[in-house]
Amino acid sequence: MKVLVVGGAGYIGAHICKALAARGDTPVVFDNLSRGHTHAVRWGPLEQGDIRQEIDLRRAFEAHQPDAVMHFAAFAEVAEGEADPLGFWDNNVAGSLNLLRVMADAGWPPLVFSSTCAVYGVPERLPLTEDTLQRPINVYGRTKQAVERALADQAGAGGLRYAALRYFNAAGASPDGEIGEEHEPETHLIPNALKAAAGVGPAMKLFGTDYDTPDGTCIRDFIHVADLAQAHLAALDRLQAGAPSFTCNLGSGQGYSVREVLDAVERVTGRAVPFSVESRRPGDPARLFADISRAQQLLGFAPERSGLETMIADAWAFHRARWNLPAQ
Ligand code: UDP
Repeated sequence: MKVLVVGGAGYIGAHICKALAARGDTPVVFDNLSRGHTHAVRWGPLEQGDIRQEIDLRRAFEAHQPDAVMHFAAFAEVAEGEADPLGFWDNNVAGSLNLLRVMADAGWPPLVFSSTCAVYGVPERLPLTEDTLQRPINVYGRTKQAVERALADQAGAGGLRYAALRYFNAAGASPDGEIGEEHEPETHLIPNALKAAAGVGPAMKLFGTDYDTPDGTCIRDFIHVADLAQAHLAALDRLQAGAPSFTCNLGSGQGYSVREVLDAVERVTGRAVPFSVESRRPGDPARLFADISRAQQLLGFAPERSGLETMIADAWAFHRARWNLPAQ
């Protein structure tokens, strides 16, 4: 099967390309390389283009005639979205509408869409089920919610079948160390803690110790990127088998506090994590973790590598090699 992986040079997209190739599918990456990396495109051709340019997408579809589409191309940094709403709506929403128009002309290949738990906002009840009332509290979450609504409307009108996968906190690197998380600038917890532990970055800033949680720091649900990749393959297979559109959470189902993550980083690396306590980061809900029963039921989802120390160990192995640190 030939799969067009839109945004396939980024962190999550690249892991899905690797998983597709491992089972004999061909990932064709469409990416503008604004955030992704050419060195992460290793398992199929690269079509350089921008989702904001419909003509670029048409060119890729004509050249490759994909059997299915996976769509990861989006701006995803919450703070960036607050500063540049128009840029986020243009890239994330208008870009996705361009993709849908081209998919319509291509006879509606099935679509796996990369969504987020940010569509929920601050939950009233935990764990979060897919039916939780959606009240996104940032621009990023609202743009993803808007695309989900466009997908649902189009699927209702006929043609499109899709899976919208709402990720919680993606973490880790490929277990063989081949690819991992490389954001620039890096804003995420685990890579920043590893940088601080390794001494290749500044002391980590711990945003908020006064939340209504047992240790005062935020609680998040971390999911290994390799487990995410397996869920995407299962979602694709389900659509290929003719299933109707569906939406599901992808997390481990387990919440860990920021302090618990820092403790685990210290255990895995054998190094202290220097950090400073800062005030809360705007837009951070206190506690988020997923009910994953729908993913278990529909996709046979099992977050096998998503133990906290396993995820951190995989990320540490990847970064240690990149930073040329001596083996432990
Ligand atoms: N966090 C932190 N310092 C950092 C990065 C993140 O204290 O350098 C906290 C952040 O406030 C949040 C949690 O770690 O409570 C997870 O943040 P991240 O940016 O990794 O993912 P998000 O939950 O925003 O998707």
